[in-house]
Amino acid sequence: MDRWPIGVFTSLDAGLGAQLEVAKELGISTIQLYAPSKQKRTPAHNKELVQRLERLGIALTAVFAGFESESYADIPTVGRTVGLVPKETRAPRLAEMIDIAKFTHELGCSVVGLHLGFVPHDPAEPLYTAVLDVTRKLCDYCRDKDLSLHLETGQEPAIVLLEFLKRVGRDNLFINFDPANMILYGVGKPIEALEILGSYVRSVHCKDAKWAAHPRKEWGQEVPLGQGDVNIEAFLRTLDKIRYSGPLTIERELSHDPVRQRAEISLAIGVLEQLKTKILH
Ligand code: MG
Repeated sequence: MDRWPIGVFTSLDAGLGAQLEVAKELGISTIQLYAPSKQKRTPAHNKELVQRLERLGIALTAVFAGFESESYADIPTVGRTVGLVPKETRAPRLAEMIDIAKFTHELGCSVVGLHLGFVPHDPAEPLYTAVLDVTRKLCDYCRDKDLSLHLETGQEPAIVLLEFLKRVGRDNLFINFDPANMILYGVGKPIEALEILGSYVRSVHCKDAKWAAHPRKEWGQEVPLGQGDVNIEAFLRTLDKIRYSGPLTIERELSHDPVRQRAEISLAIGVLEQLKTKILH
């Protein structure tokens, strides 16, 4: 694979990403996929999907999990409802995550990702131990299937995430770095965070955002790539510096408006192609 192939975040059914055909039309060669619902994670559907991707000439680089009853309505709600952190839903979600990991393996893909939830800051907290424990269980299952687990960034400062990764202590646990999330959640400057996480970064989302007037208390605003506060050129230069060679996966969360989503993905491709030429020569 070329260095930094362009990718896009996609979904098959009602989800956050663009449609596969849109990726094809835009000449994109790699995708990340939002995991389809359980009814569609069957051997027959998997076979059909593998054939469809082959036909389109698209490589699947990661499957991303999401769970029912998660809500991104505001930052405190994310803390209460997202990922494997909330206690009430942890056990059934671990079971579902294992099912999604199995699905990922069956598609011939070696990376499964998720928003773990807000990693607690204090290792002395019982919740910290519980989240360590569930993450280790998931990593160990993934290890049996030769899968890497990628945690999406953004819900805690990079330094907290780095400490957590070290404490989990599994060699198949990495980061999907989303620079816009750092701004949207107000948890740190994205370029500094990328430097801190360095070699743990094994996949990325190319997404941009503007800081909120009151970061951490309210969401920042997601904007088209190159029009926000990330500084996409500095982002790519830092990826070069940390020797990142994987795909540049565009993520634009506008599934309610597919026309605008397509136009903005197309714009993002232009931004990335131009910067790739400039930086990689
Ligand atoms: Mg993302």
